[in-house]
Amino acid sequence: MKTLMELENINKVYGNVTALNLINLDIVEGEVFSLLGPNGSGKTTLLRIMACIEKPTSGEMRFKGVKVDEGNINDVRLKTTMVFQKTALFNTSVYKNIAYGLQLRGYSKREIDEKAKEVMKTVRLEGYGKRPAKKLSGGEQQRVALARALALDTDVLLLDEPTANIDPKNISIIEEVLSRFNKERKTTMVIATHNMFQAETLTNRVALLLGGKIAQIGAPQEILR
Ligand code: ADP
Ligand code: MG
Repeated sequence: MKTLMELENINKVYGNVTALNLINLDIVEGEVFSLLGPNGSGKTTLLRIMACIEKPTSGEMRFKGVKVDEGNINDVRLKTTMVFQKTALFNTSVYKNIAYGLQLRGYSKREIDEKAKEVMKTVRLEGYGKRPAKKLSGGEQQRVALARALALDTDVLLLDEPTANIDPKNISIIEEVLSRFNKERKTTMVIATHNMFQAETLTNRVALLLGGKIAQIGAPQEILR
């Protein structure tokens, strides 16, 4: 088992709010890891730091053993993809939403076509390419956001409450897609959730986050007991 990301003594302070308090955490290559905690416990902040969108106030993060710093943070950022809790799709077709990130990464038109088709199938939105993304249901939009992230095929996928506020049918599709993608591609996943049930069904390890601190960490059965 190889370690993909190591977080050492990570603190994040906003004014007089300590969002994260001495987080020490290793994420192992290929695992599905859940951050379980109530609102305000620091889940989103921690994911944003892992995604290199936000910098910790203090502490160190290593990616594949290399310390993340000013010199390499842009490279590390490209190896991660974050799916935000509030889906922000572009006001254009499903296809273009998925294609955009691939264009930025320099894929050819043919490659983009292939990948877009493949991920639309993965999230069960085959044939939806031309539909205006913003006109889809909430659950379908969340699946487009997921397809867009899966298409990039990065080392790690960071998902912020991917099934909050959507209906049971879409929840089960998303859970199944994540589980299958993890098995097929060995993509490492870190999933923030306040849903204990999701933490149990989908994941290998769970950290219970309370008030910006890791209260417990272990197999889902141990934590949920
Ligand atoms: P969660 O995702 O578990 O709900 P967050 O990471 O969003 O928790 O927030 C953790 C704490 O940090 C909360 O108290 C929140 O109000 C605070 N916080 C998060 N982002 C900011 C910010 N940009 N400015 C000020 N406070 C913030
Ligand atoms: Mg959050």
